[in-house]
Amino acid sequence: MIIAKARAVDGPDKTFRAAEIKRRDLDLHDVLIEIKYAGICHSDIHTAHGEWGPVNYPLVPGHEVAGIVTDVGAEVTKYKVGDRVGVGCMVDSCGECVNCRKGEEQYCLKGNVPTYAGVDKYGEPTQGGYSTHIVVTEDFVVRIPDNIELDAAAPLLCAGITTYSPLNHWGAGPGKKVAVVGMGGLGHMAVKIAHAMGAEVTVLSQTLSKREDGLQFGAENYYSTSDPKTFDKLAGSFDLIINTVSAKLDMDAYFGLLTLDGTLVNVGAPAEPLSVNVFSLIGHRRSFAGSMIGGIRETQEMLEFCSKHNIVPKIEVISADQIDEAYKRVLASDVKYRFVIDISTM
Ligand code: NAP
Ligand code: ZN
Repeated sequence: MIIAKARAVDGPDKTFRAAEIKRRDLDLHDVLIEIKYAGICHSDIHTAHGEWGPVNYPLVPGHEVAGIVTDVGAEVTKYKVGDRVGVGCMVDSCGECVNCRKGEEQYCLKGNVPTYAGVDKYGEPTQGGYSTHIVVTEDFVVRIPDNIELDAAAPLLCAGITTYSPLNHWGAGPGKKVAVVGMGGLGHMAVKIAHAMGAEVTVLSQTLSKREDGLQFGAENYYSTSDPKTFDKLAGSFDLIINTVSAKLDMDAYFGLLTLDGTLVNVGAPAEPLSVNVFSLIGHRRSFAGSMIGGIRETQEMLEFCSKHNIVPKIEVISADQIDEAYKRVLASDVKYRFVIDISTM
C-alpha cells in the first residue's frame, strides 16, 4: 500500500487540512502516478460544499491531474515509468455497457467511477488529485503531449474536455456562430477551442472587465449580460451556446439568442433546478441540451488537438496552503482562469 500526502476537507463548511491517504497496491493493469499538478474545478467546490448531495468526508477533491508514471502493474501495456500522463474526472467504468463500448465511459449505464467522492470496484472510496500519488487502471489514463507543460495540462483533463466534447458534438466550426456564457475555467477553454475549430466566438460575461483577455483567447465579440440591451441586440444570433455558468440563470433570455434550430448546451451544473418556458424553445425549434466531460478516447483526441493548435489554459499556480483562498476567489468569479495546485508544496 502507498501512503500519499493530501489535502482533505471534513465537511461542507470546513477548511482544507493536511492528510494522509492510502492508495492501493498496483493491480495487474494499474499505473502509479506521482502527481505534479492538480487543477481546481468549480465542481470540486460544489462537491466539497455538499451542494450536489451528501458527501462522505473526509474528501480529497481534484479531477484535473497531471503527473509522471512511477510504477506499473505486471500487465500494463500502455504506459511505462517516466511517461507524462493525466487523469480526469473518472477512473473506471463497467466497460461492457453500450455506452462504454462506444467509448462514452462518462455515460456508463452502471455509472462511471468518479475520481473522487465515488466508490471503486474494490469497495473503497475514491480520493482525488489534491494529493501526491494516485493509482489508476491504465485504460483511464491519458498521455500528455510533449509540447504541453504539466501545470497547463492539468485543467485540460476537465475544463478542456468538458468544452471540447460539446463543441465537437454540435459541430462548432467555420460558418458557425458560437456563444460562450461565463468566462471562468471552462468558459475560457471553450473560447480557445471553438476559435481553433474555426467558429465565430462571442463571450457573454457578467461584465466587460475581462474583454481584452476574451479577445486574446480568440473571441470576436464580447458582451456584458448585465446590460439588458445585449439580449435585444443578439436575439436569434447563435447556432450554439455553451453555458458554463455555475449558478442559476434566466434560461429563457439565453434561448432567445439562438437561431432557428440552434442549441444551448448546459455544461454548468448549478445545484438548483433551472426553469424553462417552453415557448422560448418551440418558437424556433430550439434545443436545450446537456453534456458531461467526455470519453477517454475523446479526451486523448482533445489533448492532441490542443497540442496541434498550441492551446493551453491560462493558469495561476498556487501552493497547497492556498486552496481555501482559491475557492473563495472562484466563488467571487475572480479567477484568471484556472487555479492549479503545485503538488510539490504538499
Ligand atoms: P468558474 O471558473 O467558476 O466559471 C464560472 C463562470 O460563470 C464565472 O467565472 C463567471 O463568469 C460566471 N458566473 C459565476 N456566477 C455567476 C452568476 N451568478 N451569474 C452569471 N454568471 C456567473 O467555474 P468552472 O470550473 O468553469 O465550472 C463551471 C460550471 O461547470 C460549474 O457548475 C461546474 O460544476 C460545471 N462543470 C461541469 C462539467 C460537466 O461535465 N458538465 C465539468 C466541469 C465543470 P463571468 O465572470 O465571465 O461572468
Ligand atoms: Zn471539473
